Amino acid sequence: MLRRLARTAAQWHGALWARGSGSWAGVPAHVVDLRSDTVTKPGPAMRRAMAEAVVGDDDYGEDPTVRELQEKAAELLGVEQTLFVPTNTMANLISVMCHCRRRGSQLLLGQECHLHVYEQGGVAQIAGVHSHPLPDLPHGTLDLAELERMVTRGLGSPYHPVCELICLENTHSSSGGRVLPINYLRQVRLLARSYGVRVHLDGARLMNASVALHVPPARIVEHCDSVSLCFSKGLGAPVGALVGGPKDFIEEAWRLRKALGGGMRQAGVLAAAALVGLADAEEVLLRDHRNAQRFAKGLQELASPLCSVDLTAVETNMVMVRVDGPPPEELCRRLQAVSADEVAQTGRAVRVLLFPWTERSVRAVWHRDVSAQDTELALRKWGFVLRQLGP
Ligand SMILES: *Cc1c(COP(=O)(O)O)cnc(C)c1O
Repeated sequence: MLRRLARTAAQWHGALWARGSGSWAGVPAHVVDLRSDTVTKPGPAMRRAMAEAVVGDDDYGEDPTVRELQEKAAELLGVEQTLFVPTNTMANLISVMCHCRRRGSQLLLGQECHLHVYEQGGVAQIAGVHSHPLPDLPHGTLDLAELERMVTRGLGSPYHPVCELICLENTHSSSGGRVLPINYLRQVRLLARSYGVRVHLDGARLMNASVALHVPPARIVEHCDSVSLCFSKGLGAPVGALVGGPKDFIEEAWRLRKALGGGMRQAGVLAAAALVGLADAEEVLLRDHRNAQRFAKGLQELASPLCSVDLTAVETNMVMVRVDGPPPEELCRRLQAVSADEVAQTGRAVRVLLFPWTERSVRAVWHRDVSAQDTELALRKWGFVLRQLGP
């Protein structure tokens, strides 16, 4: 669904630009892109770091910048080693393949999690792993009793798949960037341990969780057997992710990265960008979270019957807006459009780019290319559109 919506949004975006200045000639349109935190462009400092990176052949383990990134990240995450890979999708696939060595091994995970929904079932088509999805609770957690029932169902049975792995996602994307409680991680680990099952954490947005909880990422990762982390989301790098875990796990991960075509040569130019993203993470993500909060509060203050936000659910850089009345597609279309009316009323031409999320909601995502001022402009545009749609 997201892909189709993305295409629709891109067409709209294109059409609006192509239509040019029209009756609001002279007022340059300002774009606030809240579709995803993947849309960031590397800024001057990041590009400089990339240009100046000291590199070598990473296939021989000779790229100093990749090694620096892997070592720094291992320390930050509190794991023995990490491995730089092109994408978080590959980091997840490698992790699943490392943990599930038997064909037909069972993987338990949330039915709306990224690994299950957006990674083409790679664990089935490439790794021969059988996924059993469980319903995600509103906080992005899984019901522990149900989890235990599924872990134990096949125990000692020649008929059932053997559960080897549980995958969790933190922050939890489809629930709007919710942060998994540390105590929940502890409980899942305990449960998994007692049945010889491992836990992988899809930490694409782990740094958002760390910043939101005010704890070092290692305090989160310590409850898991392996972890992935994405540099091209809120950390703002153009490419890259990593997988982290014990030494023997990473040795196997290196072999699998090679098999999957993810071995790279002078990858230091990419690792340099990831290092800048990591160095800035706390400052940037705190600001993103504050902007998301500010927006959610502002939207609530508009007190429109058409849009509402559950403020308690805004924990990181995402805001889920419930839309009642117009279809979310219609709302998104209006937020992207610029009209002479808007320019006359507000003196501005602002395009707010968004994807509808469900039949009744729109998800807005903050990132380092959206400033506090952009957030204010997005809010004002939202107010303008709601008045247009008015009850
Ligand atoms: C984006 C994302 C991924 C995949 O990352 P890519 O680098 O795009 O492959 C995996 N998990 C979660 C939770 C994500 O948000």
